[in-house]
Amino acid sequence: MTPLLEAKNLSRVYQVRRGYFARPNPVRAVDDISVVVMPGETLGIVGESGSGKSTLGRMLLGIDPAQAGEVKLEHKPMPPLRSAQWRALRAKMQLVYQDPLAALDRRLTIAAQIGEPLDIHQIGTKEQRTAQVEELMAAVGLRRDQAGRYPHELSGGQRQRAVIARALATRPSLLVCDEPVAALDVSIQAQVVNMLRDLQEQYGMAMVFISHDLKVVRNVADRVAVMYLGKIVEEGSSDTIFRSPRHPYTKALVSSMPVPGKQLQGRIILQGEPPNPAVRPTGCAFHPRCPLAIDLCRTNAPALRRVGVQRTAACHLVAGDAAAVAA
Ligand code: SF4
Repeated sequence: MTPLLEAKNLSRVYQVRRGYFARPNPVRAVDDISVVVMPGETLGIVGESGSGKSTLGRMLLGIDPAQAGEVKLEHKPMPPLRSAQWRALRAKMQLVYQDPLAALDRRLTIAAQIGEPLDIHQIGTKEQRTAQVEELMAAVGLRRDQAGRYPHELSGGQRQRAVIARALATRPSLLVCDEPVAALDVSIQAQVVNMLRDLQEQYGMAMVFISHDLKVVRNVADRVAVMYLGKIVEEGSSDTIFRSPRHPYTKALVSSMPVPGKQLQGRIILQGEPPNPAVRPTGCAFHPRCPLAIDLCRTNAPALRRVGVQRTAACHLVAGDAAAVAA
């Protein structure tokens, strides 16, 4: 099968000042990352805050243009940001943010916002667009009588449903969801995640699902990429990553996942500070927190290697079965 989206050797560096008079420091948010998304699949991207996963998500859509590397959607290179070709392509790839209130226009009704992409891309007649808005509202579980309401008149969960309906209006082939349930009540999270899974099947689209919450990702993802300080440190099928993680960072993350009805056993507590992209350690960036670090880790960064069938990891202590993967 041919990939829907291919990203190769993506890098993004921000210049960040740590004080008004301070000189800007380069912060490598995304460092030489390659990913592939197949049609209809869900790629989960996990990592703590500061790992670069949101930047990567925006880069995949061309919203945050890559400074190095390239993104191809259906084999075509991503056109420059805001060009006519990019705007046309945006109909095929949509983004769902964490904060639905910020994503919605407070002055427009829910129906108007869901129909906006149809108006912009001039899809169908006025009557067809109205019918499609009704259909989208039903698909995400919003009632007809909510069509004329404004964002502040809905609950957080209903607002996120409206955002998702708007994202689906152009029938995208790729939906990038960046922490789509992080701002919702725990009781609502599972409903929205299950709905996304159903919609993905119904609409036959691929998803990139970005989250710091492993149990949510386990629920939706076919494959998982684990990020640490701008790099992918492990990638594989969701089943293998959660059943037998290889990289020490993934092991620590997975060990902290609660299992219903069971006390946490064998939890690996990570020492040291959470990742700070402004201060990147030498060698393996994870070494100050890694319980298994050896001298080599302090000086040499491990390459991402194939460590099994469709499985990669970047760790000196994980034996690879092939040369380093072209990043
Ligand atoms: Fe730990 Fe070293 Fe492996 Fe990095 S390379 S994860 S520091 S053992």
